[in-house]
Amino acid sequence: MDISQHILEKETEVCHLDCVTAFNALTKKEKLYSHYLARASWYGGLIVLHQTSPESPTIFCLLMKIFSKQNSDQIAKIAVEECEFTQEELTAFNVYFAGFLANMGNYKGFGDTKFIPGIPQEKFMRLIMSTQAYRDDPQVVAKLMETCAEPTYSLNEGNKQLGLGKDGISSYFSDNCNKTDAELIQKFLDSKSISAYNTRLFKDGNGVYNVRLASALTDVSESLACLGEYKFADGDKTYDIKVTRGDYSNLMKLVVENLEKAKEYASNDNEANMITEYIASFTTGDLNAHKNGSRYWIRDKGPIVESYIGFIETYRDPFGTRGEFEGFVAMVNKEMSKKFTDLVDSSDQLLKLLPWPKDYEKDEFLRPDFTSLDVLAFAGSGIPAGINIPNYDEIRQSEGFKNVSLGNVLSAAYSAGKKVWFLSDGDQQLFKDYKSKSFEVQVGLHELLGHGSGKLFQKSKDGLLNFNSDSVQNPLTGKAVEKWYDVGETWDGKFGALSSSYEECRAECVGLYLCLDFDVLKIFGHEGKVAEDIIYVNWLNMVWAGVQGLLYYTPENQTWRQAHMQARYVILRVLMEAGIVTIEHLTCADDGKADAVVSIDRSSIATIGKKAIGDFLLKLQVHKSHGDAEGGQELWQKYATVGSDVAPDMLRLRQTVVLRRQPRKIFVQDNTVHRDDSVELVTYPVTHGGVIDSFVARFHGEDISKLL
Ligand code: ZN
Repeated sequence: MDISQHILEKETEVCHLDCVTAFNALTKKEKLYSHYLARASWYGGLIVLHQTSPESPTIFCLLMKIFSKQNSDQIAKIAVEECEFTQEELTAFNVYFAGFLANMGNYKGFGDTKFIPGIPQEKFMRLIMSTQAYRDDPQVVAKLMETCAEPTYSLNEGNKQLGLGKDGISSYFSDNCNKTDAELIQKFLDSKSISAYNTRLFKDGNGVYNVRLASALTDVSESLACLGEYKFADGDKTYDIKVTRGDYSNLMKLVVENLEKAKEYASNDNEANMITEYIASFTTGDLNAHKNGSRYWIRDKGPIVESYIGFIETYRDPFGTRGEFEGFVAMVNKEMSKKFTDLVDSSDQLLKLLPWPKDYEKDEFLRPDFTSLDVLAFAGSGIPAGINIPNYDEIRQSEGFKNVSLGNVLSAAYSAGKKVWFLSDGDQQLFKDYKSKSFEVQVGLHELLGHGSGKLFQKSKDGLLNFNSDSVQNPLTGKAVEKWYDVGETWDGKFGALSSSYEECRAECVGLYLCLDFDVLKIFGHEGKVAEDIIYVNWLNMVWAGVQGLLYYTPENQTWRQAHMQARYVILRVLMEAGIVTIEHLTCADDGKADAVVSIDRSSIATIGKKAIGDFLLKLQVHKSHGDAEGGQELWQKYATVGSDVAPDMLRLRQTVVLRRQPRKIFVQDNTVHRDDSVELVTYPVTHGGVIDSFVARFHGEDISKLL
């Protein structure tokens, strides 16, 4: 069996989730509020261990035991000096534990496959038995090791991935449950209007089902209507089902305790009420209280400190209805927001620069709802770059949701450490130096003037057109406008599946086009040579991302799986057509395998490049303004195609991109410490060891085995 895909690559990069600037800009009260929300999130995040695999909590206990006595540097010293570890083996050991913590368990948060340590089991055990923790407490450490050694290393058909019954491992269910059990219980839950989000299912030897709710309280006496014993008839059979509570009760208590403290520092009634409801839900197991908390959360518009906590995403329950615990705290990036505000203040001037006549621009500029947040703490099985919650449909449909972009997740994922594939040697350094800064400019322009610009030609209920059909000319044909959105027609409705990538492409093009303006770069603090370099790197980054975008294309069914990446690929193709971007296929001198280099002619960006993007952007806008989905589709297809006669080399390029695919990065997150009367931010080395040490510090002084 090829086990390499079940070992995290030793090249796995670590990056810092940098929130120092945003955190320092908080008031004392806001710092205290975020500190306690972060504490609540971190304790709750440990629930994910229980939700991932039976051995994950034990592995976590072992890890905490070892690394709380000696930090990662000291353990590394023992490994090399006493246990004959090579550097490679040491890296593999650290990558395993750092990866385990980043995924909150021994299955990948993104992909659901199991991973095992990349060193032999004997060596792993030998190191653990050489640590101070083992010398101080041999029986306890030996017991932990005994319990988890076999399942840590075991790889068979039944445990290689998460799944229900024979398909894999799932600790949302006892291991005697299969899909039939899951379906039966879903019918029962639906019949009682119980939501599965905060539950797990266990079946005992007599076939009695226990639906267990997550809560601090463990009794059944207090009033929560759904608790109790039921006889449930399905077909000609009757089943015994109990609804109990108290799953993860020790952790839920700590979540509640920290939320109580956070509530003291809430900055408005919505926040206080939201926390009150969360506390009620986590204490009693009543999911309706969490829904009410989410309602207050939606109403808490544009807070300085943003958060969400609970059983949220259902991706990892093989049945798809049970939520994984997730908690995050983030801060509005005030510096970034200031730049965005300045940009909006200049919008009148900037919109005039766009390549369409003023009739195609809105009568009044509407500032889009957009918050850029820097994450202070994100606990769970992975960190997304953007979020759109709550997931409760009844709330989303009628009361709304929030859309946030996690700025420091994006910028960290964009800071390149070592060799960047597909760039020439000459571009490497410049790209690394300016990638984050140029991306900041691009995101601001994309969100505010990209998504915020352009007018839709619409007929209203009273039959009036919102443009002058006698005077407005189609700039592509020079003739009168013949198409528009009829009464009730919408952009999404007309463009359908094409709408997201098309709109993302329009916004990206606006970013490329407007970043050429030196007044814009000045708003972001860039002048002179630096401003010129930022323009270059922004354009280079766009075509580079277009190449990377091929990872999100599936040739088998010719579909794209990611709107932004498709948009960037289209831009790459537009600039290739203009003749200023070249792609060279070559063989890597180091490993003899396929390689490629994408480059853009720097001296032609402001001339040929600007004209090509301007012309394309105008076409995108005109079809959008007119509601001309056919015209839009035709334009789009020309550039979005991969392979065939149109772009034959792109399939080959895709294979190279797949071959050179980089492992997912791991984040090292800061800690907050409430000392005396202030909250301090503590940062850690940006290494695999730093990830481990930061987690140990997070639970310093806690007897973890009693909590899990
Ligand atoms: Zn966008």
